[in-house]
Amino acid sequence: MQRVLVIGANGQIGSELVDALADRDGIDSVIAADITPPPKPRRVQFETLDVLDAPMLADVVRRHEIEEVYQLAAILSAAGEASPLRAWTLNTSGLLNILELAREGRIRRVFWPSSIAAFGPHSTPVDTPQLTVMDPRTMYGISKLAGERLCEYYFARFGVDVRSLRYPGVVSYKTTPGGGTTDYAIAIFHAARQHTVYRCFLKPDTRLPMIYMPDAVRATLELMQADSTKLQQRSSYNLAGVSFTPAELASAITRHVPDFSVVYEPDSRQAIADTWPRSIDDSEARRDWGWRVRWALDDLVVDMLRNIPLASDREPRLERVLTQ
Ligand code: NAD
Repeated sequence: MQRVLVIGANGQIGSELVDALADRDGIDSVIAADITPPPKPRRVQFETLDVLDAPMLADVVRRHEIEEVYQLAAILSAAGEASPLRAWTLNTSGLLNILELAREGRIRRVFWPSSIAAFGPHSTPVDTPQLTVMDPRTMYGISKLAGERLCEYYFARFGVDVRSLRYPGVVSYKTTPGGGTTDYAIAIFHAARQHTVYRCFLKPDTRLPMIYMPDAVRATLELMQADSTKLQQRSSYNLAGVSFTPAELASAITRHVPDFSVVYEPDSRQAIADTWPRSIDDSEARRDWGWRVRWALDDLVVDMLRNIPLASDREPRLERVLTQ
């Protein structure tokens, strides 16, 4: 039986992608892998695997007859600045190990995510086009840009069917985020539900491209099912969800939690955010494989609040709104 392998499966995106793949293809068709065992038992088979260990990776691929790999293991932007060399090594060598397996014909298709962090201060900041100056300032962004070049190289030179998306900041409620600059857009909901003041590490007017998890997962599945001959980008596709600032997000939350408040205490993550785009032009994704975003800001806010547990039952009005 041909199966798919998701590496980095315990992470924010991996844990939801595994469930989506299992829902679509059945639990026997998905193998989840991560460097540490899962925090709670999974529906699918799990392998403890270090993506940097090439022989171990090849063994997992052989034993499970893996056809398709989703390589999500990475160190993200803010965490990467604490350990730049580790971030470079994991983010580039992990991808290379997978691309080599594909070059040798041991797997048929690869998904690897890039990020809006691959852009930099001289990239066109609004409606950032697919092709523009890319001068990332973080080790995370540098590793993502290098990874994009590797993907295009392995496709052009060896015919490897590798597909990639430049994810915006992903907003979700099922797991904690992995140390990125857009994590505030998740933490703010937990503060709102716990009736605590949220201390935001970005300035109120910092506009960044974001996407709600159901859209991010659907984009991934749709790209991987697209007709290979239609895909004109083999580096990584721009992908747009919804762009907003911390102040706009706080205001949307306040419509449902009137006593909610935010104080702004920018830290080192502000300097990272200042080099990233404010919005993304994803017309090539829409043209080549029919991408359409579904989740707008207000719907995202209601869904996040509905799914994050309430700290107490002293807010019946909010509960009424969210259960309507
Ligand atoms: P995450 O940090 O939540 O999860 C990464 C997972 O990789 C973790 O479970 C970790 O244990 C695992 N891992 C670390 N080292 C490993 C190794 N050597 N071998 C195997 N597994 C290892 O990350 P995420 O937010 O789920 O992101 C997934 C991918 O999407 C990454 O490539 C990231 O760069 C990209 N991305 C994420 C976002 C976002 O907002 N979450 C935005 C843009 C791009």
